[in-house]
Amino acid sequence: MSFTTLGLSAPILDTIAEQGYDKPSPIQLQAIPAVLNGSDLMAAAQTGTGKTAAFTLPILEILSKGQRAQANQARVLILTPTRELAAQVAASVETYGKKLPLTSTVVFGGVKINPQMIKLRRGIDVLVATPGRLLDLYNQNAVRFKHLEILVLDEADRMLDMGFIHDIRKIISFLPKQRQNLMFSATFSDEIRKLAKGMVYNPVEISVSPRNTTASTVKQWICPVDKKKKPALLLQLIVDNQWDQVLVFTKTKHGANRLTRYLEEGGIRAAAIHGNKSQAARTKALANFKKGMVQILVATDIAARGLDIDQLPQVVNFDLPNVAEDYIHRIGRTGRAGSTGQAVSLVAADEFKLLSDIEMLIKQILVRESVDGFEPVHVLPQSRLRPVRANKPKKPKRSKIGHTDGQRSGENSRGHKPAGKNKKQAGSYYKTRNKSSVRSR
Ligand code: ADP
Ligand code: MG
Repeated sequence: MSFTTLGLSAPILDTIAEQGYDKPSPIQLQAIPAVLNGSDLMAAAQTGTGKTAAFTLPILEILSKGQRAQANQARVLILTPTRELAAQVAASVETYGKKLPLTSTVVFGGVKINPQMIKLRRGIDVLVATPGRLLDLYNQNAVRFKHLEILVLDEADRMLDMGFIHDIRKIISFLPKQRQNLMFSATFSDEIRKLAKGMVYNPVEISVSPRNTTASTVKQWICPVDKKKKPALLLQLIVDNQWDQVLVFTKTKHGANRLTRYLEEGGIRAAAIHGNKSQAARTKALANFKKGMVQILVATDIAARGLDIDQLPQVVNFDLPNVAEDYIHRIGRTGRAGSTGQAVSLVAADEFKLLSDIEMLIKQILVRESVDGFEPVHVLPQSRLRPVRANKPKKPKRSKIGHTDGQRSGENSRGHKPAGKNKKQAGSYYKTRNKSSVRSR
């Protein structure tokens, strides 16, 4: 199946070809015709499956056929939870729409509001925004939605996690009742479905991967280690494995700063990205990381959400996340678009509960591999997948203990599945896209 049969016109198809996309991803295959049809949509897909293009391409197609935006009006509103994600989606809109006479802009907090007001004055076809700044602009009469055609909620699950529910409801109350609604999310929780009820009408539902499974192309393992020794272990792993581009997650902003300083003292070029940093500092750190000028980017969950860094080879969980689902989001930063990635978690004994929650969620026990000289004094208890309720019958052993099973079916000593053999999920269509065809940013 190629892009040409989906109902997109020549300028967009040309741009897609220039991007080196051979065929639509599964979510694109389903979402593009549905959006072009005018349907509302609820789509769930794991990160890195091409959700942004799945909504942007048909939106651009629809907009290219209608009337240009009038003063202070927006025709499409795309809401995202974070500034970084907003900037990224806006960049995609610009890229995919570069052969069309449409306007787009992005607004988010942390930077001056005046230039944003000026940009909105003439009207904007596609407005990408974070909820808080959008409300500010609305309250100052800088933007109106009289002619709004389409509303998109990207990473809707994260918006709820971040407490944007009231802002979203308020924004929706400003919008015309007659509009198309598209809701995208990595997973669909019950809360999301509740929000959807008041927002989408008779939606086409698309789900391209089973809930709560991790990307098939990511090799995952854990290093048991004492808390105190985590920084030294990380440094050693970076040096021994010659990792040259690593995204490291810490639980706190403070922890991110401390670790960054430690790595810098160890001669490693590192930068931190989190909510206390100015927008300019965050943008610069990310740009330097993408360019390879910064080797290690240390991030908190909120800052890292949705970042699309092509071919990121390595993710490290310096701390395990408090919320098990964040583990899936974190390791979704690697192994994107079919490239293989590695995700290692440094786990101290007091994180055992968090580890168990993650293993329950992903339904697999993570392979453990201690590093010489870093064997923990405080022993990490053995994992096992507990049944959810004590009275439920146990599942067959085969499906539970990933690594013992894997050893037999030809995994390497770490228990990682060779990427090429894994036929599950989104991987297959992306395989045609090799390293050399990836555009640089
Ligand atoms: P998601 O929002 O699902 O996390 P993105 O839309 O950010 O995913 O896309 C992830 C990566 O895949 C991006 O680098 C994008 O350029 C690339 N991509 C998107 N669609 C395709 C496609 N059809 N073929 C190849 N690469 C694609
Ligand atoms: Mg996305």
